[in-house]
Amino acid sequence: MISKADVVVIGSGGLGAATAYYLAKRGGLTVALLDKHDIGSQTSPRAAGMVSCVRKGDLMITLMKDACRKIESFTEETEQPLDWVHSGSLKIARRPQDADVIAADLQRGKRMGLDVEEISPGAACHLNPFLKPAGVVAALRIGDDRYFDPAQVAVGFARGAQTKGAILLPRTNVTEIIIEAGKVTAVQTTGGQIRTPVVVDAAGAWTRQVAEASDISVPLVPTRQQLIVTEPLEGARSDLPMVRIMDAAVYIRPCQGGFLWGVYEEGPRFFDMKVLGPAFDVKDMPLDVEVLWRAAEEVKAQLLFLQTAKTREFRGGIPTMTADGHHILGPAPAVKGFFFASGCNVAGLSISPTFGEALAAWILNGQPPIDLSPMSPARFSNKNWSEEQLQRDAAWQYRHFYGAV
Ligand SMILES: Cc1cc2nc3c(=O)[nH]c(=O)nc-3n(C[C@H](O)[C@H](O)[C@H](O)COP(=O)(O)OP(=O)(O)OC[C@H]3O[C@@H](n4cnc5c(N)ncnc54)[C@H](O)[C@@H]3O)c2cc1C
Repeated sequence: MISKADVVVIGSGGLGAATAYYLAKRGGLTVALLDKHDIGSQTSPRAAGMVSCVRKGDLMITLMKDACRKIESFTEETEQPLDWVHSGSLKIARRPQDADVIAADLQRGKRMGLDVEEISPGAACHLNPFLKPAGVVAALRIGDDRYFDPAQVAVGFARGAQTKGAILLPRTNVTEIIIEAGKVTAVQTTGGQIRTPVVVDAAGAWTRQVAEASDISVPLVPTRQQLIVTEPLEGARSDLPMVRIMDAAVYIRPCQGGFLWGVYEEGPRFFDMKVLGPAFDVKDMPLDVEVLWRAAEEVKAQLLFLQTAKTREFRGGIPTMTADGHHILGPAPAVKGFFFASGCNVAGLSISPTFGEALAAWILNGQPPIDLSPMSPARFSNKNWSEEQLQRDAAWQYRHFYGAV
């Protein structure tokens, strides 16, 4: 155990580990990466590992383009393995109003320099024969999209950070961040106190709890997301484009000779981490496979194989949703030295390399490399959601991640 650090990062998922990596890379700093569980063991390794470049706004597209570059150069950068496949993806509309969204996506994507084109339903099915054309009214091919092995990202960044001098402290629970005269001065952990002027709350599903222990509120909701990995299927090549059915919010991507698939269901299950107790591990999260079978039924005209493919693995994790669908990155207002890297909105792993670098720069230089104000915790300063309103808005953001209207 150490007694002093320049920065303490709380949580070694993708967001925390990437931040620790880029801080350590600068050199000359004592960076401690703490986790109450094993390093990178909670929600991050349970993700789908899909990278989605067509987003609702220019800023996110810019950030995702950077994330793609960083995923490609991950091994060169960290000297740690990362398996990734540049498969591209197909965004599928089944209703005229979603076809309009695709038309807008196409314009925005082109303007932002993405490899996007609208193709016929038949052409989309030709690119991925597991997709059937019935009921498809529009299809967008997104050449920039890719996927990676989610289990390698957080652990890779953490090991890379360690190589660059960061101190990893697994199974070390942060119980309080000590704030004196509006400044962070220390973190209290189960292994003792660490004096530090800077903390990063990257505690994933526990972000809110960590902040609230120091009377800082942050509006996000721990939300269940589940997926199935099928047994291998004849013809399921690893380079087939991923498919996203907009209105049903169902996704598939090749995985281990079969497919991995999931859904952003209507009315997701939220968790209060306090109720789950201090020793709760995401691997023990209650799962509900019926959510997926209902989704499979909803898309059976397009993805018939989901009805019969055998299940190899069924897993889930607890990402965090925000009311406006934007991530939470940057300093907490009114407390010097308290930073957040959270509010992942079920897309935090793919953006973690970019956010890690940006937050490290923000901490060290006092400002981010580009304007990230839409993600800043300061945007919540004059907002006060009731828990019910927060959950309602978060559920809407969750269900509408693919932009369906
Ligand atoms: C089924 C599923 C599919 C997904 N698909 C995608 C996808 O395709 N693309 C994508 O980008 N994202 C996807 N996600 C979301 C992605 O997993 C998350 O955005 C990302 O992993 C969030 O990382 P994190 O660092 O915030 O959280 P975590 O990985 O949960 O890390 C937080 C860490 O903080 C630690 N911690 C908490 N409290 C404390 C404390 N008090 N003291 C010390 N340590 C603490 C925890 O132990 C944990 O290890 C998916 C998620 C799921 C579940």
